[in-house]
Formats: sequence, C-alpha cells, structure tokens
Amino acid sequence: MVTLPDIEEARRRIAGHVVSTPLLRSQALSHQSGAPVFLKLENHQQTGSFKLRGATNAVLCLDEEARSRGLATASTGNHGRAVAHAARALGARATICLSALVPANKVEAIRSLGAEVRIVGQSQDDAMREVERLVSEEGMSFVPPFDDACVIAGQGTIGLEIADGLSDVSLVLVPLSGGGLASGVAAAIKGRRPQAKVVGISMERGAAMAASLAAGTPIEVEELETLADSLGGGIGLDNRLTFALCRDLLDEVILLSEDEIAAGIRHMATVEGEIIEGAGAVGIAALLANKVRPGGPTAIVVSGGNIDPAVHRKIVDGIKSGAA
Ligand SMILES: *Cc1c(COP(=O)(O)O)cnc(C)c1O
Repeated sequence: MVTLPDIEEARRRIAGHVVSTPLLRSQALSHQSGAPVFLKLENHQQTGSFKLRGATNAVLCLDEEARSRGLATASTGNHGRAVAHAARALGARATICLSALVPANKVEAIRSLGAEVRIVGQSQDDAMREVERLVSEEGMSFVPPFDDACVIAGQGTIGLEIADGLSDVSLVLVPLSGGGLASGVAAAIKGRRPQAKVVGISMERGAAMAASLAAGTPIEVEELETLADSLGGGIGLDNRLTFALCRDLLDEVILLSEDEIAAGIRHMATVEGEIIEGAGAVGIAALLANKVRPGGPTAIVVSGGNIDPAVHRKIVDGIKSGAA
C-alpha cells in the first residue's frame, strides 16, 4: 500500500518545499521518564503543522492538467492551510471547505494564503459533501486530508527524519486522527527499524480511528469539542488505506482526557518554550500522564502549533483545563 520506497520518493519530491524540522532532546521529559526523549517539532514547519508535507506531495503527484483545474479539500484547518500554501507555491487555485466548528484563527490563516474558504455545515462530513460537488460539477481535483497514498507518503517523511536523527529509536508517539500521519510515520519507522514501537494517541472525546480499530471496521463517532480540535472528524466509512495501515502497523492506541491534553500544552509552553496546539501536545501529554512508559530512545511527533492565542493563554494560566 504505502511502503518505505514510496516515502523515500516523497522525500525527494518535496525537498525544497518543506522544512526538515528540528529533533530536539527534552531534558525535562528525559529526566522524568528515565529514557532519552526527543521532540520532532512540526510546529516549526511552514504553515505551523506537518500537513504541508502530505499536501505538497499530493499536489506534486497530480499532472499539470489536473492541477490547472484547481484544488479542493475539506479540513479541520491545518490541511486546508497546507493545501492553500502548496497551491500558491505551485501556482494552482485552491478552494477549502470547512465546518462551522473550525476555530476562527484557522479560517483567517487559510484566507490570507489566497485560497477561497467555504464554511459548510456542522461536521467534516458536511464539508466533504461540498468538496464532492466541486469535483463532480466543477472538475476540481480533490486533495484528501489523510486517506491517500501520496498524502500518507508525504507525512511519512517525518519518520525518515526521525530514523536518520535517532538511529536507535525504540518508541515513537504519534497524534492520531484520520491516520495519515500515523500510517506514514509507522510505515517509515517499521521499514527502517522493525523492532521500534509506534503508538497512536487521540483524545477521549470523539476519536474515530480508535473506535474503528476497536470495532474492527470503520465506524462513525459523534464529533465533540476538544482541545485537540485538529484530531476531530471521521475516518470515512469507505476508508481505503489508513484504517488498514493503522490496524497493521500501530502497536497501541492511547486516549487522553481534556485535562491531560491541557497539561501537555502547559508543559510545552512553560518548560520547553514552545507554543503547541492540543493535537500537537498529545504525545507529551501521554508521557506526563504515565500512559506510556519508554523503554529506550523515544521520539514524540509534535504535530502542530496553530492554536488560538487566547485559548493558549487560558490553558497556560490554568484557567481552562479542558472542554469537558
Ligand atoms: C491533522 C492533524 C493531526 C492528525 O493527522 P491525521 O493524519 O489526520 O491522523 C495531528 N495533529 C495536527 C496538528 C493535525 O493538523
């Protein structure tokens, strides 16, 4: 489906369009867990999240003709922002469909990148129906947020960078929503270092992939408000790739409470000096909550930093501990 050579090819294709982000040792987390812990800081990626890797690879996978008809996608924010950025960088037009749950700062960020934004409905599924209409009626090209071989291979380049920087890595913690990130990272890590464990991490409130893996088939869950808003949304009942890849490649899936996620954000701000959104903080949160115990060199994918500054301030001040 998506294997190491696909990911290596993606790395060559997107080189020069994305940043090879820092992999930094955390003194505090290493001390607390008794194993070397490294943070893969995708909040330093252009657009503030790893999504640019998959989006750029997916756009570069399209031929000129498909690209010229324009790009369309639905997104909880970061994927839309990434597609808008990739479209502008590669000279294409982009339309981004979002549900009304997407925070205002993310909507503005996409508009400022030159893409057209359409707010449709109350869920990711409603936004997706509008994308399907743009594809069927207006001939635009869909850039999927996660369930696509080119997107997965692009996200997997993070795994290659981790394996290069930490050759004896034994555990990788990856935020998990639709599973494009986790599938790609796990395929890269298992391809390079089969004995390493890869653990997916989601929030307790509305984790569609976790529920689907437990059910043994893709299922729908209710979309709920959460500090990890970038982890919201379904995996698609007709999921083609990421459900099977996550089922086959992830060693474990861990769920976190809103208070635990808030503690991860707070730790990143006050101890590591990094402004991180909820989805980006779940790996740190899992470690802080003792829900995962590293037995050796550990890499945490810090997937993004796009958080409303007012929300971030409240969390760091300890006023708002969570949505629950
Ligand atoms: C999209 C996103 C994720 C989850 O990625 P999936 O491929 O959907 O699992 C995690 N963190 C951030 C910041 C994201 O934007």
